[in-house]
Amino acid sequence: MRNSEDIWHLVDAKKDDFIALSDRVWGMPELAYTEFKSCNEHLETLQKEGFRITRDVAGIPTAVTGEAGESGPVIAILGEYDALPGLSQEAGVAEYRPIEGNGFGHGCGHNLLGSAALLAATAVKDYLETNGIKGRVRYYGCPAEEGGAAKGFMVRAGAFDDVDMAITWHPAAFSQVHEPKSLANTRIDFHFTGRASHAAAAPHLGRSALDAVELMSVGVNYMREHMPSDARVHYAFLDAGGIAPNVVQASATVRYLIRGRDLVDLNQLIARVRKIAEGAALMTETKVTAKVVSAVSNLIGNTPLERAMDDAFKRLGPPDFDDADRAFAAKIQSTLTDGDIQAAFRRVGLPVTKGLPLCDQIVPLDQHGEAMVGSTDVGDVSWAVPTVQAHGATYAIGTPGHSWQLTAQGKMPAAHKGMVHVAKVMASTAIAALLDETLIPRAKADHQARLKDTPYVSPLPNDIDPPLEMSKIA
Ligand SMILES: [Zn+2]
Repeated sequence: MRNSEDIWHLVDAKKDDFIALSDRVWGMPELAYTEFKSCNEHLETLQKEGFRITRDVAGIPTAVTGEAGESGPVIAILGEYDALPGLSQEAGVAEYRPIEGNGFGHGCGHNLLGSAALLAATAVKDYLETNGIKGRVRYYGCPAEEGGAAKGFMVRAGAFDDVDMAITWHPAAFSQVHEPKSLANTRIDFHFTGRASHAAAAPHLGRSALDAVELMSVGVNYMREHMPSDARVHYAFLDAGGIAPNVVQASATVRYLIRGRDLVDLNQLIARVRKIAEGAALMTETKVTAKVVSAVSNLIGNTPLERAMDDAFKRLGPPDFDDADRAFAAKIQSTLTDGDIQAAFRRVGLPVTKGLPLCDQIVPLDQHGEAMVGSTDVGDVSWAVPTVQAHGATYAIGTPGHSWQLTAQGKMPAAHKGMVHVAKVMASTAIAALLDETLIPRAKADHQARLKDTPYVSPLPNDIDPPLEMSKIA
């Protein structure tokens, strides 16, 4: 790592505070839309650093922004801080050891995600102040990335209307500009209503909502063969109608998560799943209602910004992991399968290298691997404004997303080095946009060209609000 630029010194000057912030958030894992303590940690840091605060963004109590600087372009830097259920895990051990009495955990590294983004925003603020440059940097504390689509609601509420470009990142095995591929998705709750009756004495009078849910699953499973190969459909039972087998189940609810390559594919798939639900209701003489819980768009890229970020990565070089970092990462790798590790290399298009526990390079921009098939609510921001994302190496190569191994690595020195490293890349990309007056216009032209034939239409129906209660079901 070559610390040659002023902006990188500004990141280093405050890194300890932000490593501590990341560790505190790791220690208070909170689920989507309930990140009150984590959001407050970010809010207090924004206040301490002198940002101008906006709370309750888009009516979401755990969404906050902080702005600094005057006039000029507005550069958004996006952070997250939500955790996941079932991923409680002690830090710094390479064996499954959940922390007793606490089922949540930072199994996606969002403790690092928020802190590094806020560190980058703080360094840009300090740079603007020191150099008297016109321009604004705005940190977005975004809740509920895990299934809550908060950024989509923030876009819909106009929170990005005056933004010129957005920068964010995600913890990863390798350092590189993130290839902008992700699936559009939606979560829809299908609620079936039937008629209860004694299951032995009067079964002919009952109409089973649970049967309807089961038939819907059968129908969707038959559909799978005839849908695009990159589409995905998953489901979870929210209400199976109760615990009494001798009562015909009068109500049942199933949540479907439907993913498509883009919004066009997704909407076609949603229409088919809705028909199957109606078919199941028809077969069972039950009634069905469908309620959209959340939805996100696929990501779109931005070539000028990706090139600018790649330049920053190349100037900085890879993170300085040491032998102790590699030794612990190797221990984590010993808990993984060969398949996990091979998939990590294939994902970024690199040859599988045995005995390489941590990233030792910047993966080139033109290196294309097997695209990720997850989804992110950054997708909607990328349709609203030119957006670029980094992947920052913070964990052992092969670590699966949403795993105890990922939680275990979230407070390690390698994670801290990775978050400071990627904060430098993000801050440097923002400074490039402020110093090169052609970059934002080029980014906007690229963005408009991508939207020419398919303008952005929010996948969130107008009549739904952020699902603030969604984690109560989880
Ligand atoms: Zn994540």
